Amino acid sequence: MTDSPALPDQNWPVLLPGWVWLCGAGPGDPGLLTLHALNALKQADVVIYDALVQEDILGWAPQADHIYAGKRGGKASAKQRDISLKLIDLAHAGKRVLRLKGGDPFVFGRGGEEAQTLVQHGIPIRIIPGISAGIGGLAYAGIPVTHRDVNQSVTFVTGHDQSGNTPSSLDWRAIAQGSQVIVIYMGMKHIARISQALIDAGRPGAEPVAVVTTATTEAQQVLETTLATVVEDIETAGLTPPAIICVGRSVLMRQALDWQAQAAGEAPRDTDPLGRGRPAESA
Ligand code: SAH
Repeated sequence: MTDSPALPDQNWPVLLPGWVWLCGAGPGDPGLLTLHALNALKQADVVIYDALVQEDILGWAPQADHIYAGKRGGKASAKQRDISLKLIDLAHAGKRVLRLKGGDPFVFGRGGEEAQTLVQHGIPIRIIPGISAGIGGLAYAGIPVTHRDVNQSVTFVTGHDQSGNTPSSLDWRAIAQGSQVIVIYMGMKHIARISQALIDAGRPGAEPVAVVTTATTEAQQVLETTLATVVEDIETAGLTPPAIICVGRSVLMRQALDWQAQAAGEAPRDTDPLGRGRPAESA
């Protein structure tokens, strides 16, 4: 790892003993960390990090103990209690604690629950947002999460709940009818059920879908497919989580904006994939 960038001169917050900072690490690429995250990494005595945090990032905290708090699928609830207890113990022991979570800590990351538990135990906290996979991961695939010609709203949904089922509280019909673009986290396990629910609610089978796995890392893979073919194509491509699944016409913009392919020398497949001509210069 190269030397970490110097932080611009400003009064950076000080991580005091007994405090816990709950911090987003972004979707993977260490360059997507915030400066506040870097400032925190440099001060922590202990970093407790999740499965989705790239371990490279811990290179910025060589002075700290690194504790892995991975939990993927399955027995998340018991683990969650252990993690919260660990944070409380460390804070009570007077450590400077950095809780590092993938993406943004308050987006489908149970950061709100952890923060609430800390507050209930009288532990002072700071929240450091991060770039969420559903925005930054799509950007690395060349997909704008909003685009004026496509959507005036976007819905972020989780594909499964604490018990591992598709959330029963989700009204797929309302989502299908209410939002031109749907960004699904944790959707791989139940993609068959989800895509069928969207089609049943009136979304066309031909609607574009992108599946972006391990987004923003060197292992990133992007599948372009449709609602009708997504299940089969995921299987054929052998894609596995973590993945962001984007449903909507903004996926077509990748034909113009796949900047990683372009950086590797490929020409854009279509510079006007929505057939709108040149974007208006103004208004
Ligand atoms: N707090 C995180 C989300 C945690 S939920 C955030 O804001 O991004 C975990 C889910 O996030 C994964 O199942 C996957 O759907 C998504 N995810 C996180 N990192 C990802 C990545 N690098 N590539 C693709 N999906 C990712």
